[in-house]
Amino acid sequence: MPPLTDEAGEAREVRRFWGGLGLPGLSDVHTHFMPERVLHKVWDYFDTSGPLIGGLEWPITYRKAEAERTALLRDFGVRAFTAMLYPHKPGMARWLNGWAADFARRTPDCLHTATLYPEPGVGAYVREAVEAGARVFKAHVQVGAYDPADERLQETWGLLAEAGIPVVLHCGSGPAPGKYTGPEPVARVLARHPKLRLIVAHMGMPEYEEFLGLAERYDEVRLDTTMTFTDFTERLMPFPRRILPRLAALGDRILLGSDYPNIPYPYPHQLHALERLDLGPEWLRAVCHDNAADLFGL
Ligand SMILES: [Zn+2]
Repeated sequence: MPPLTDEAGEAREVRRFWGGLGLPGLSDVHTHFMPERVLHKVWDYFDTSGPLIGGLEWPITYRKAEAERTALLRDFGVRAFTAMLYPHKPGMARWLNGWAADFARRTPDCLHTATLYPEPGVGAYVREAVEAGARVFKAHVQVGAYDPADERLQETWGLLAEAGIPVVLHCGSGPAPGKYTGPEPVARVLARHPKLRLIVAHMGMPEYEEFLGLAERYDEVRLDTTMTFTDFTERLMPFPRRILPRLAALGDRILLGSDYPNIPYPYPHQLHALERLDLGPEWLRAVCHDNAADLFGL
């Protein structure tokens, strides 16, 4: 039997969290929306506990139809979210971007999201997406199995840096490493594009220290909290307590992300996981709402 969920109770809990901080709601920069058949394939993959997710048992808590998934985010009081989508092979990104543009049109609280892949034509379709109003990009170094510093992406990183459009990059080696994951390829991208607004997904799990170091070095580098600090992740790839002061000091560069709906626990757990870091209400307000509001002009 699937676990019983109490979504009304969860919504009350989430609202109590942001209400108690005096916030108008949450901004969640890392939520997944994609064409239904692609999302179902992702869920099927999670069901197999495959190598890309480290062979882990990973029940999807919010396996629902799209309209129910957006409605629940609204019940939680998430005022702005994204449609993180990404290709695992060439020839897919432009099609995904078309879907995401349409999704953003019919979902006004979703920040119009786009994606990219190192392939011929990437410069042209990224420019098209920007002209169509894309406000954030997502790229996945592990699933895509490419070097983010690939020559074919240089023009694109330059364009996005120039336009000030953030890119959420899954580049850490968690939950499982890829050929090009880790801080080194990202450091090469930033050396050439120091103004790129990179948002390191999952706090760079498990290379937390190295990715925090990149944020300390480059003013436009940010990190999202996605799944980090939760019981699930702490068991596998714990965030070192001794670098908490550095996390506190970077309070203006950390953004709430959740991985909703593909999470193996209820949504409020991510918020409790942030709260129990004990970095204080000011840090929580910045991370859970204000930093994204500033970055995206919400
Ligand atoms: Zn994700």
